[in-house]
Amino acid sequence: MADGQRSITVLGATGSIGVSTLDVLTHLGPEAFRVEALTGASNIALLAEQARRVGARLAVTADESRYGELKDALSGTGIEVAAGRTALIEAASRPVDVTMAAIVGIAGLAPTLTAIRHGGVIALANKECLVCAGAFFLAECERHGATLLPVDSEHNAIFQALIGEERAAVETIVLTASGGPFRTWSRQEMASVTAKTAAEHPNWSMGLKISIDSASMFNKALEMIEAQHLFGLTAEQVEVIVHPQSIVHSMVRYRDGSILAQLGPADMRVPIGYALAWPDRATLPTERLDFAALSCLDFEAPDEGRFPALRLARRALLHGGASSAVLNGAKEAALDAFIAGEIGFLDMAERVEVAMDRLGDLSEPRSLDEIEEIDRQARI
Ligand code: NAD
Ligand code: MG
Repeated sequence: MADGQRSITVLGATGSIGVSTLDVLTHLGPEAFRVEALTGASNIALLAEQARRVGARLAVTADESRYGELKDALSGTGIEVAAGRTALIEAASRPVDVTMAAIVGIAGLAPTLTAIRHGGVIALANKECLVCAGAFFLAECERHGATLLPVDSEHNAIFQALIGEERAAVETIVLTASGGPFRTWSRQEMASVTAKTAAEHPNWSMGLKISIDSASMFNKALEMIEAQHLFGLTAEQVEVIVHPQSIVHSMVRYRDGSILAQLGPADMRVPIGYALAWPDRATLPTERLDFAALSCLDFEAPDEGRFPALRLARRALLHGGASSAVLNGAKEAALDAFIAGEIGFLDMAERVEVAMDRLGDLSEPRSLDEIEEIDRQARI
């Protein structure tokens, strides 16, 4: 671990990634990190418990109507309390060494862009930042000297497999996908699934939305776009392979035929710990893989017929412009409608395709306002 105590803010502390981050922070102890701010939304009891546990200076709920509840839960602790969107942005603007960006969806974009402005390390779990804002987001990192470290397990794996290598020597990157709970299902079988079934991921315990995105493979679609931006790749350089065991977290093919992979347990504390300890490695109490107990590692080609999200991502990669932001905005709206029981599982990709057809001419966004406007149109 880096010498001396560093400061950290966790945006989205009460979510799946946030809880794993707090677990890693608790393990590393206060000598490694001092916690500046924790943010959440509806789970006030958890946010208050977390803030007490790590001795945060500030706790913020994005939900303005929950201010009183959070204030009561933290009374007498000396922990500062705030609520609402402006308070969230203010929390993100406080200078810290590391910001964990773990809010779900485009809601995380403005706070993460704010955090970038004070430089430091941005441990990025919120893939929507790169999907919606791509070039603009990276330019902001560059302008403010922020270091972007991918937390998404596939991108973290690729980041690790690229260390010490020349970028020009990279032929392609290979994103692995578990295939989700419907990997072997027909479209007919998928037509009637509910949000509850779709959220039951075979390998990973994650937030509700990303779990359903994994079932539809929209998660992999977002990750293809995320990878293109993070690693400066062409559409042709982004491969996807289905790997049901989720042991190989992704790979890099080099021009001499070598392939470097990163392997590990399906536990997000590994990539989170990597980003927090970077450029060192922390000692973590994660499961050690027992190769003798692993009977096999399977790989199969993804099926774009049954999972059209992959075809739509490919289209966005090739088309450029605003198509990735449109894909994400329409996907977020369709996912909300699916969770609410208003549309079927297969309707999600159909809605996204309609949005991409209608908004295909929009040019690449160059500011937060432009991105939010494209997002608004795509949701409609
Ligand atoms: P989650 O739904 O479990 O948690 C989301 C967090 O964001 C919570 O703290 C919630 O309070 C907060 N939040 C939600 N809506 C908000 C809003 N409008 N304003 C402010 N805060 C809000 O999500 P998660 O599974 O932890 O995923 C977080 C991000 O990390 C997503 O972008 C996801 O794609 C990415 N990611 C997650 C995993 C995983 O294993 N869960 C893996 C890789 C990447
Ligand atoms: Mg991932």
